[in-house]
Amino acid sequence: MAKFNENYLNVKESYLFSEIAKRVNAYTAANPDKKVIRLGIGDVTLPLADDVIKSLHSAVDEMGKAETFKGYGPEQGYDFLRRAIQDYYKRNGVTLDLDEIFVSDGAKSDTGNITDLFSVDNVVMVPDPVYPVYVDTNTMNGRKIIYLDANADNNFLPMPDKSVHADIIYICSPNNPTGAVYNKEQLKEWVDYALENDSVILFDSAYESFISEEELPRSIFAVEGAKKCAVEFCSLSKTAGFTGTRCGYTIVPKALVSKARDGREMSLNKMWNRRQTTKFNGVPYIVQKGAEAVFSVEGMKQAKAMINIYRENAKIIADTMKKKNVKFFGGVNSPYIWFECPNNMNSWDFFDLMLNKINVVGTPGAGFGKNGENYFRLTAFNNKENTVEAMRRFEILF
Ligand code: PLP
Repeated sequence: MAKFNENYLNVKESYLFSEIAKRVNAYTAANPDKKVIRLGIGDVTLPLADDVIKSLHSAVDEMGKAETFKGYGPEQGYDFLRRAIQDYYKRNGVTLDLDEIFVSDGAKSDTGNITDLFSVDNVVMVPDPVYPVYVDTNTMNGRKIIYLDANADNNFLPMPDKSVHADIIYICSPNNPTGAVYNKEQLKEWVDYALENDSVILFDSAYESFISEEELPRSIFAVEGAKKCAVEFCSLSKTAGFTGTRCGYTIVPKALVSKARDGREMSLNKMWNRRQTTKFNGVPYIVQKGAEAVFSVEGMKQAKAMINIYRENAKIIADTMKKKNVKFFGGVNSPYIWFECPNNMNSWDFFDLMLNKINVVGTPGAGFGKNGENYFRLTAFNNKENTVEAMRRFEILF
């Protein structure tokens, strides 16, 4: 019998969203007349923008004609999209070479797949609470994980502790689930730590498009020195509603190099290119054409208009929290609002209270780590009417 990867025995059962669905389904079956409002799952609700749809349609037509049909494309992505991403970074003050940009089918796959490039004896540092993919993928590989406490004392923005060494550090900013965002000085401290410790930062910027305060960094490469120690993952999922269409991009700088035990230089950029050309056959041409439209002047306007709708919802939620004196995090540069459950309640009990008393669904913080035990996440991904109604009901609880 083949030996299975026993590290999978150490991966915790992912019951968060299935448990939420189970409890919501049981409630709606018993109370069919009640209108349940969902502010739980972090999925977008608005349809793709007009220019994206136009571009997708015309790409579909191209696929139907011999002269314009496309077969296998470059594994790293078509140059038209890599250029559009390069220009986007340039507009945000970051210069990248085209071959530092890798188009992907989303940030989830790449944040997981990047673990292929690192030795299993690296120590991985992950903030708690956190997007669970970082922990699960490293557990599958059998790597040691150390946790960094994010809590109200550090505004859910933990800073490096010089007495603790980590080889790989995950940073997600704006953060899921807390909505907290590092400023440039704070990111600089992380970059300095990584350079001193020869560590690599895996920076997840999936929510950068929600940043509204101009001085906050949208990319870790806005920080000097980051190209020597960081990889960045981004996605059109939240920027442009691509959660079901699937397109993202990963930046692997050529300056990120290390020495092998025999003294040879190893380049993470070259390794990622080798990995992708071996294990990945690219994102569909049609999807990449849709993604290209996001980066056009008109496409960006349309994407921003969508983000603004979610931002308004976030503001409605945040304003309610302020009115009721509930301490919360996020909600300004993020679609997530993260707050402490009342009366020291644990997050699953508060989930049940919300569901049963006011018929509003959120996400219990416990699903993101131990520091989330008494916290709760609401999302701006619904329409205004539902968000207003959910908050009207929410006020009853406080
Ligand atoms: N990174 C974070 C922090 C996320 O919250 C999510 C999705 O919710 C992703 C990555 C996944 O993005 P994608 O849809 O591009 O795979």
